[in-house]
Amino acid sequence: MTLAGLMMDRPLLVAPLMQFAAAYHGDTAIVTRSIEGPLHRTTYAETYRRIQQLAHALLTLGVKPGDRVATLAWNTWRHFELYYAVAGIGAVCHTVNPRLPAEQIRFILNHAEDRLVFFDISFAAIAAELQGTIPSVRHFIALTDAAHMPPELVGVPAYEDLLAPQPETFIWPEFDENTAASLCYTSGTTGMPKGVLYSHRSLVLHSYGMMSACGINGRDVALPVVPMFHVNAWGVPYAAPMVGAAQVYAGRALDGASLFDLMDSEGVTCAQGVPTIWMGFIAHMRAVGRKPKNLARVLIGGSAAPPAMVEVFEHEFAVEVNQGWGMTEMAPLGVVNTLKRKFENLSPAEKIALKSKQGHALFNVDLRLLDDEDNEIAHDGTTSGRLQVRGPWIVKAYFKEPDSALTADGWFDTGDIATLDADGYLHITDRAKDIIKSGGEWISSVDLENAVAGHPEIALAAVIGVPHPRWQERPLLVCVAKGDSRPTLAEMNLYLGQKVPKWWLPDALEYVAALPIGPTGKIQKARPREQFKDYRLAG
Ligand code: AMP
Repeated sequence: MTLAGLMMDRPLLVAPLMQFAAAYHGDTAIVTRSIEGPLHRTTYAETYRRIQQLAHALLTLGVKPGDRVATLAWNTWRHFELYYAVAGIGAVCHTVNPRLPAEQIRFILNHAEDRLVFFDISFAAIAAELQGTIPSVRHFIALTDAAHMPPELVGVPAYEDLLAPQPETFIWPEFDENTAASLCYTSGTTGMPKGVLYSHRSLVLHSYGMMSACGINGRDVALPVVPMFHVNAWGVPYAAPMVGAAQVYAGRALDGASLFDLMDSEGVTCAQGVPTIWMGFIAHMRAVGRKPKNLARVLIGGSAAPPAMVEVFEHEFAVEVNQGWGMTEMAPLGVVNTLKRKFENLSPAEKIALKSKQGHALFNVDLRLLDDEDNEIAHDGTTSGRLQVRGPWIVKAYFKEPDSALTADGWFDTGDIATLDADGYLHITDRAKDIIKSGGEWISSVDLENAVAGHPEIALAAVIGVPHPRWQERPLLVCVAKGDSRPTLAEMNLYLGQKVPKWWLPDALEYVAALPIGPTGKIQKARPREQFKDYRLAG
């Protein structure tokens, strides 16, 4: 018989994070490049007052515990306020990706049965299109003040007008920590999007996990470039108040020059974003010949960080790279790459190779790799298998889906293929559906794309499998050239031959004008796959 512990049973809730930040880090800044234009400055203390006003406003609008409240918004202080006020009253902050096609947004709002939709004025056209078409929605509210109201919409209140008359203190209800706090739909690259419903407990634990791994602390000025509509901006809006880190939000200006200027003027020390964002940023750093003055670390995730990118950040600009791996279903962080002390003396090239792996599991995220017969495979750094995960901030079922999302023994199958080495470093070699099966062996399209990413003449690359009479499938490399020069297949394979096994070398190379980048910043392979579906390899 075990003995019950005698410690307080306090629920892990989201609102207390901001109560704490206001009390102990009240004058710490939150700076936003506003959608209206100018830089907006506020503090944790002021923001917390407004969060309490917003909580009152939500009740006035009839929001009840469990109701879903949608946002169509960039990263701003107002979006941040919604995160806390909505969850604080026991409702669910449903961040909707405004870059999705209108019919997917409509599907998502209908599926979630949102009560309110808060939208940035740059999404007024989408809001106008949706207004009156979603039966559950009572009000659309423009995230701005009376002076900047979009003309497209009628009968829509301005956010600032809603807040102004409300009292500045609010007594937060206390409820079970497993209550839902936020909702985010998967990006829908395979089938219709599915809702992942994060609990208060999972978000608070994820914040602890995030800090243990990538070390945001009270001396940091953090700029989550990753959108707040994509998996809670990777949890930064919850983790930063927990340690009193200052925050900078980029609004809608995500090009390299705008990000650089904002980071430089606000003294940003760490930033988080997907590789496609960093490409523009690196080009700008190179153009001006320096990094933003205080930038010390970047967290790169969402898709694989190419070694060439890691190298530029670390060697050219002395910015430390931590790669992160995770999923919408994982809140999102499961794995972060930090270099173990025993590897300090590796050569620079060896360090880059190691840092280009996805990294170590965070405590509380269990990883396992299975082969096709569901046997666990060795952690030898070379044998790859299906990656499954388990932990307190990982989905167990999708919103409104009756079935469990887990295997019979309680694991979530990520759909990724990976290796684990003896030091615990995870390396994602592919999505299960993207892996190229050549003569019974697997070729990693991700590793090939990463290798091509370092080529000076290539802007973007996607590798897809095409049918082959002997080997079943062989890699076709689809590239967007940077300028007029187009390396031939032979030239490309000479370059790649130093980086990947010979039998991985692409059998064909095609150039296209563009490769589509999806709503979460990843190259969408569906288009080249469709375009080249009847591709026949020469000979
Ligand atoms: P999403 O739910 O849209 O965030 O997509 C999750 C998927 O993105 C994962 O299952 C991986 O396939 C991919 N992904 C995320 N981070 C990385 C990374 N650092 N390296 C490679 N793939 C990644």
